[in-house]
Amino acid sequence: MTTKSATAAARATVYGHPRQGRNRELKKATEGYWKGRVSADALQATAAGLRRATWLCLADAGIHEVPTGDFSLYDHVLDTTVMVGAVPERHRSAFEADALDGYFAMARGTQDVAPLEMTKWFDTNYHYLVPELGPDTVFGADSRKQVAELREALALGLTPRPVLVGPVTYLLLAKAAPGAPAGFEPLDLLGGLLPVYAEVLADLRAAGAEWVQLDEPALVQGRTPAELDAAARAYGTLGGLADRPRLLVASYFERLGEALPVLAKAPVDGLALDFTGPAAANLEALAAVGGLPGKRLVAGVVDGRNIWVNDLEKSLATLGTLLGLADRVDVSASCSLLHVPLDATAEKDIDPGIARWLAFARQKTVELGILAKGLSHGTDAIAGELAANRAALASRAGSPLTHDPAVRSRTAAVTAADARRSPSYAERAAGQRAHLGLPLLPTTTIGSFPQTAELRTARADLRAGRIDADGYEERIRAEIREVIAFQEKTGLDVLVHGEPERSDMVQYFAEQLSGYLATRHGWVQSYGTRYVRPPILAGDISRPKPMTVRWTSYAQSLAAKPVKGMLTGPVTMLAWSFVRDDQPLADTARQLALALRDEVNDLEAAGTGVIQVDEPALRETLPLRTADHAAYLTWATEAFRLTTSGVRPDTQIHTHMCYAEFGDIVRAIDDLDADVISLEAARSHMQVARELAAHGYPREAGPGVWDIHSPRVPDAAEIAVLLRTGLGAIPPGRLWVNPDCGLKTRGWPETRASLENLVAAARTVRAELDAS
Ligand code: GLN
Ligand code: ZN
Repeated sequence: MTTKSATAAARATVYGHPRQGRNRELKKATEGYWKGRVSADALQATAAGLRRATWLCLADAGIHEVPTGDFSLYDHVLDTTVMVGAVPERHRSAFEADALDGYFAMARGTQDVAPLEMTKWFDTNYHYLVPELGPDTVFGADSRKQVAELREALALGLTPRPVLVGPVTYLLLAKAAPGAPAGFEPLDLLGGLLPVYAEVLADLRAAGAEWVQLDEPALVQGRTPAELDAAARAYGTLGGLADRPRLLVASYFERLGEALPVLAKAPVDGLALDFTGPAAANLEALAAVGGLPGKRLVAGVVDGRNIWVNDLEKSLATLGTLLGLADRVDVSASCSLLHVPLDATAEKDIDPGIARWLAFARQKTVELGILAKGLSHGTDAIAGELAANRAALASRAGSPLTHDPAVRSRTAAVTAADARRSPSYAERAAGQRAHLGLPLLPTTTIGSFPQTAELRTARADLRAGRIDADGYEERIRAEIREVIAFQEKTGLDVLVHGEPERSDMVQYFAEQLSGYLATRHGWVQSYGTRYVRPPILAGDISRPKPMTVRWTSYAQSLAAKPVKGMLTGPVTMLAWSFVRDDQPLADTARQLALALRDEVNDLEAAGTGVIQVDEPALRETLPLRTADHAAYLTWATEAFRLTTSGVRPDTQIHTHMCYAEFGDIVRAIDDLDADVISLEAARSHMQVARELAAHGYPREAGPGVWDIHSPRVPDAAEIAVLLRTGLGAIPPGRLWVNPDCGLKTRGWPETRASLENLVAAARTVRAELDAS
């Protein structure tokens, strides 16, 4: 295939870049600053050095316009809060005394002042700090950070394009400040916010910005007419300003849907759209609105969220179609590269034959440079790159890693009956209680016990070769002995082994499943200075041998009471990994489910009568557009049931989820057909129990009675109050007593005291039930 060259040369750009540096220098400098070991000047110098290195690296890969202002010491939404002067009242004096310390106080809180709330950035695993706005919020422009970073890039002789969170998305991501009157919506503040954006835009123009990008990812979420109207007003106003830079409005993570005609009509100079995955629907939609005559289109054809090499020929074909639809077409990743690790060439442990399938941030920028060149000068100009790309894709498609015949035939043979337990929950429940010999209000925990310094030392010793596998195994067993002895002494009813062998649950299972790759340097920002290294789900998934059975069996051998087996569910495994893009997620989920089903069945065969399959990511994986929810929930719940349906009726299946707002998926939770669910509820005073009851949830449930996010020890009386509240909604035969979540981040002293109080409270309330 040859592509004719475009009239205007196409250029490559990106919307943002990982911030941390090759050796996570930013994390080290920032944490050093918090501890008083690094000065503010040294922190700022590290940050400036990282920005500079990023820009030069981008330019070197052929990126024409480099993003500025996307860098952050903590979070770009918090930076926007500073830019628009929306520092909450409780942080204002600290912020005015010292902007840097005040900034970190908003992010992390101090002894006396609570931080801003943190939540997920759309459906990524990045978390932003939620703006708190009220009717009294008075915005004021502070463009210093944006202007300074623009100047830094200009001084390097580059063409910078400042990137801002757009005003509509900023307001849609905000929450009403505590004390705001009912009915107040942050979007009501748009009129006051637009002059502030106008001022920032004017400052950037004056400082030399030709283009400015305004990110509006919130518009992909299927917005109400009033919200679409706000978007039209916002860009009507900003587009209508006399002295302004050219405006590029960017959307990503999904198709723009009903917001596309709104933005296409707005008096702005360009749109940036996502054309990857389901967002490829933007193409037809763009044609349907007659394209973007007179405007610039930035086409996100390289997936900014996965770590796979791009199909360059497919992207060129998309770009070729788009050429006729706008005045000028440029090439980009679909979203900021913030969500991928820095450089795949750092992964020396991955087989080079497989490493060539990988594209991290650095490789993606190179792909963009190639695509821009091909689009401008024709495919002959990039013939060598295309041949190498074809070979990499062919090697991936033909690899035994991505096509394991045994896995394929097993998944193909799955029937609906495989994903159904029989008999129904109602019939199973009584048998389970009898089989397990459980009292009313049974007490249990969510799985993990404190990850002690000794456990961390044992892992470090194993890595450094100071102990061997047997030595490590013995230290884990010692920990299990301690955890079991404590639970027996305390009188818990369903015990756990404490998960001492796992530091990160998804990583623990990924390491033992065939089809997964681990990275050594594949860090991505989760929030602030916290980085995670998601495993790469690269191929067909199978389980060569049992993963947890020996730990659970060992724990059971020490205890008379039932010990609960502990697994991470298929949806959570998917959600916290980089997933393959060469087959539907539903297919990958089914492979994971079968591998985990083997583990569930082996646990049962080894004598485990209670098995918990955690799905804390079930809700957060909900697609961004409501219209796509039903299809997702169908395959997600099927994967859970496939994992758990191979057991006898008297084996009790538990699940756990870490959140309280589940109203929109309560039907799906029921559809998991788990016998028992534990959820977070302590902070909301058992609100969850009432909601479960309101939805007619028919199964057993353990709304948490101890908020494990704080070191505070709840006393037995207050736990009893929560249990009595829970009994107001859930009948005694179906109520469990447990903490909100796992205890791995807690210390032993508060764990001991809190669990003793939890058992005492359960006994008190049981006695009350007996007496009445
Ligand atoms: N079983 C896990 C634990 O207790 C559950 C963790 C989670 O839900 N995030 O740590
Ligand atoms: Zn949890």
